[in-house]
Amino acid sequence: MAKILVTGGAGFIGSAVVRHLILNTEHQVVNLDKLTYAGNLESLSSVSDNTRYAFEQVDICDAAEVKRVFNTYQPDLIMHLAAESHVDRSIDGPGDFIQTNLVGTFTLLEQARAYFQTLNADRQANFRFHHISTDEVYGDLPHPEEQSGVLPLFTEKTAYAPSSPYSASKAGSDHLVRAWQRTFGLPSLITNCSNNYGPYHFPEKLIPLMILNALDSKPLPVYGKGNQIRDWLYVEDHARALVLVALEGKIGETYNIGGHNEKQNIEVVHTICDLLDELRPKSQGSYRDQITTVKDRPGHDMRYAIDASKIHQELGWKPQETFETGIRATVQWYLDNLEWCKHVQDGSYQRERLGG
Ligand code: NAD
Repeated sequence: MAKILVTGGAGFIGSAVVRHLILNTEHQVVNLDKLTYAGNLESLSSVSDNTRYAFEQVDICDAAEVKRVFNTYQPDLIMHLAAESHVDRSIDGPGDFIQTNLVGTFTLLEQARAYFQTLNADRQANFRFHHISTDEVYGDLPHPEEQSGVLPLFTEKTAYAPSSPYSASKAGSDHLVRAWQRTFGLPSLITNCSNNYGPYHFPEKLIPLMILNALDSKPLPVYGKGNQIRDWLYVEDHARALVLVALEGKIGETYNIGGHNEKQNIEVVHTICDLLDELRPKSQGSYRDQITTVKDRPGHDMRYAIDASKIHQELGWKPQETFETGIRATVQWYLDNLEWCKHVQDGSYQRERLGG
């Protein structure tokens, strides 16, 4: 049984990792999260009473607090997910992304390095720092509308070419982790994953935004032609992959994680509309009638797609959900959990944790 420190465990993917660890393993979990707008403790209500779970409201940029958490809980494994994660927000205001994704990761690495030096040889041999990152660090790939034939995929050897302040800050954090591994011998692993979707996704992101706008009779805004391609992965498949890499991956290695589900954004929006037409029909017409186009995001990457053969061949991971099963489960989850959505939309998820 390991003691696992998860940073960003109140976020979308972090909360899936925490739920997976508490509900399906015997490991102990400490969730270290600042609770920014993206952190939502209601996503952890199914596990928060478990005696193997603890929560610390801490900013990863706060070295003294991070040190206190390391010394108090004595973790064997760090899974670092805390980040500013929304591309559009990084364009409107990159400062928080530099602070959390770069300065925060640096602070965490420095505290992990100091803590690692306090461990005895046995515990050092088992210690791991797992940095969770994105495929957006690789920039974008040729799009089928501009190139024919077999199109390339991102592999672990693809050169970094980030486009947005978000992906640039994540790329920088990946480089820091590799440097701390190589220069200081901090035993580290990195994963780069494609776009996730699933339950508890903050409604600013494409899929939940479309579901909730559709139900609220609001426009469904699609960037440009909607032909940008993303490789979608169900969040619980990602959580399983992360725990597998964290516990069994080879130190110093990078693993790409993806769902082999390349879809144009407009196809995703159509699928959501069609599922809602089936599961929650409107009195008249289709949810597709609400689709509107908006000016494209500056610097928008056209295509992401992951070659996940390394994690499959070396660790035996593959996704359990297809896009068709995962998106159906997701739409159904939002229909069944409108209360969770309402608390996010009216801000009460933040007021409650402040005791107000
Ligand atoms: P999220 O925005 O939903 O959650 C981020 C969490 O980090 C929140 O709980 C927030 O409170 C916390 N946090 C932010 N700043 C912090 C700080 N300074 N100190 C402590 N906690 C802080 O993000 P997500 O979608 O769950 O992504 C998690 C990680 O996975 C990120 O590192 C992201 O880059 C990576 N990733 C995300 C995707 C995706 O599709 N969402 C895909 C690949 C990789």
